[in-house]
Amino acid sequence: MDYKTVKPRDVANKSSELNFKKAIRMAIEVESEAVRRNTNTFNQNRYTAVADIEDYDALKDRARAIKEESIATIPQLIDQLREQITSRGGFFYLAKNAVDANNYIKNVCVEHKAELIVKAKSMTSEETKLNHVLQNAGIEVAETDLAEFILQVADEQPSHIVAPAIHRTRERIAELFKEKFNPDQPLETGEELTVFAREWLRNKFLQADVGISGANLITADTGTIVLVESEGNIRMTTILPPVHIALAGVEKVIKKRSDIAPFIELLAPSGTGQPLTSYTNILRPPLKLPVYDFKGGRNAKNREFHLVLVDNGRMAMREDPVIKEALYCIRCSACLNVCTNFQTLGGHAFGGETYSGGIGAIWEAGTGRLENARFADLCTGCSRCIDQCPVRIDIPWLTENIRFRLNVQKKDYLASFLSRFMPTAAEDRHNPLQKQFFANYYFFARLGSLLAPLSNWASSLVVSRWFMSVLFSVDKRRKLPQFKKETLIAQYKKMSGE
Ligand code: SF4
Repeated sequence: MDYKTVKPRDVANKSSELNFKKAIRMAIEVESEAVRRNTNTFNQNRYTAVADIEDYDALKDRARAIKEESIATIPQLIDQLREQITSRGGFFYLAKNAVDANNYIKNVCVEHKAELIVKAKSMTSEETKLNHVLQNAGIEVAETDLAEFILQVADEQPSHIVAPAIHRTRERIAELFKEKFNPDQPLETGEELTVFAREWLRNKFLQADVGISGANLITADTGTIVLVESEGNIRMTTILPPVHIALAGVEKVIKKRSDIAPFIELLAPSGTGQPLTSYTNILRPPLKLPVYDFKGGRNAKNREFHLVLVDNGRMAMREDPVIKEALYCIRCSACLNVCTNFQTLGGHAFGGETYSGGIGAIWEAGTGRLENARFADLCTGCSRCIDQCPVRIDIPWLTENIRFRLNVQKKDYLASFLSRFMPTAAEDRHNPLQKQFFANYYFFARLGSLLAPLSNWASSLVVSRWFMSVLFSVDKRRKLPQFKKETLIAQYKKMSGE
């Protein structure tokens, strides 16, 4: 199979074993080079930026404490926030799930007879699949974040929660633009590509009827929304169109405006390694700015603002003693960038339908289906990410817990049957056979030594290698070690006279 022709969207659902393998091969052959280079740049920058933070550990503790307190009091904070937004003339909607959130947003757009919507980057809207719903209602959606614009043109889903097009080299972006836009002048350099996208999008901003953004944080006491960005497109999305809709998960709400600072100090250094993002927007919508009629024919005098908070499994996560911790995540991406497996594969293989990296598995399981988190198997539990997390989430432990749930859920009758013949503890018999085999390797090695040389002959047979390949995923080309009748321990005892 030519993996250059496999589209990431085709392998997005990795609950199927075949798609999972296809995604891994496609990522290695097509996307790995760009992911490795870009994550390494983020990492180098992060080490420098974090080293410059005075009392980094205390700041992390502070951020963690704020998130813990906020998640513990979400229902009260939501009530307070609703009051804040509506008392200033804004609209507030608490959506139960993705469908509910999408329908609300679509109805607002239809009421305003919206023809064109500009959108800032929002992983929550990826989670709810908002674009499909709006486009099916006949509304044009223009992604305005440069990386999201590239992905929209390529019809791909994000491969990273902060840098969605991290898997594309400049050359692949140039090829894409050439194919889709057939520009008069060749677009090759980063600057040429960016200028082209900027001009294309500027017109969309001026014509847009509605702007949709996400939110990095929302404060309950003042209804303040924090949006960090590098390109200025969020600022234009939230200010140019007469209607602004902000869509965010309920976990983005924190108690008070004075709690924003630690997150601003931690977010950019942890993610891209910048001391501060190029733009930090702190809004208290609805804004009291005049509406300019760039499009012509509009009679909107006042700005309209809608805050759509979506649950979509988050309140159930909050009740879960283990995966509740993922709600503290501020989506900085440090855990993705530092992960060696992610550096090789990127989020189209080491990711699900929306979220990627180790923490992505918890988000997929919490907001989607548990099976969507199958890629959690790619985490080796090395724990490098724990120290990088600005809110001290034990990501490998959460990932391990998700894997346990997947194994329990998956009914592998062959593994349960064969595990009766293994020295596996009863509570571990739901694990895949491969894991049971390697977890009990000492037992098999001992048996092999006792039966040597018979065991060496038997394990070299074609049929044995086939069984080992099918049952334990031991590649047939791998050279197996030879069992010795006398073990090292026995030899040592003999030599030392014990
Ligand atoms: S788990 Fe921690 S390191 Fe990973 S994205 Fe979330 S906040 Fe950042």
